[in-house]
Amino acid sequence: MGTVGDAEKKPTVVFVLGGPGSGKGTQCANIVKHFGYTHLSAGDLLRAEMKSGSENGTMIQDMIKEGKIVPSEVTIKLLQKAMQDSGNDKFLIDGFPRNEENRAAFEAVTKIEPAFVLFFDCSEEEMEKRILSRNQGREDDNIETIRKRFKVFLESSLPVVKYYESKGKVQKVDATKSVDEVFEVVKVIFTPKDEKKEDLLCKFEYQKDHLNATKLAVIALFRTLQACLSRTNTD
Ligand code: ADP
Ligand code: AMP
Repeated sequence: MGTVGDAEKKPTVVFVLGGPGSGKGTQCANIVKHFGYTHLSAGDLLRAEMKSGSENGTMIQDMIKEGKIVPSEVTIKLLQKAMQDSGNDKFLIDGFPRNEENRAAFEAVTKIEPAFVLFFDCSEEEMEKRILSRNQGREDDNIETIRKRFKVFLESSLPVVKYYESKGKVQKVDATKSVDEVFEVVKVIFTPKDEKKEDLLCKFEYQKDHLNATKLAVIALFRTLQACLSRTNTD
């Protein structure tokens, strides 16, 4: 991969957005397995930075506990480093950009525009249920912080989705369904167009073979009937 920020060879970036608990991390793990992307969760990177004892640790911890958005420069630095360290050139950036300032700063610093935005659309009721049974020992997975995170999502993060929608870059997925059902839809979005065409051709060939076999069976039946009839006539 070229250095992040290089003008020549830019990596492919897909922003994965959706409310807290909409299933971003779960689906990203599936996409990684099937399509060879590197998954970078802004939340995971911030939690790791917090635990590493860095100078920003306490500030990050306080912001996460309150469901607030950590300053862009901190998150973008972590993302850039993770991209460079990965050795890959295809990234799912999950939970980022969280607000308009995140979005503008990322584009200005890295000069990267996302290939598209994968948006998981889920009801608050379902997200709340999922977070409360997530069981990962996260300090922000409690009802008080969850409500604050929903508010931040509606007020700050949804406008980013709207921005990319206006540029025709959003792939919206109904995330209220089961993990497998959601991934069926996600898989189609990530499958290259050529493979989709090949898949259609295969289905067409299969149906053609099927039709030919049926035609041959009908002809054979017709001939047997004809033979029976002519035998009856001669008898
Ligand atoms: P996010 O990364 O958007 O915060 P997660 O992927 O961590 O969400 O999912 C939140 C919780 O909901 C996890 O415990 C996960 O196992 C569960 N989950 C994810 N997707 C679904 C789904 N489609 N149906 C039911 N539970 C789900
Ligand atoms: P998540 O793991 O995506 O649910 O994020 C958990 C928390 O980390 C959020 O509620 C924010 O406090 C913080 N956070 C996650 N992503 C970002 C981001 N892109 N910018 C700033 N803060 C973030």
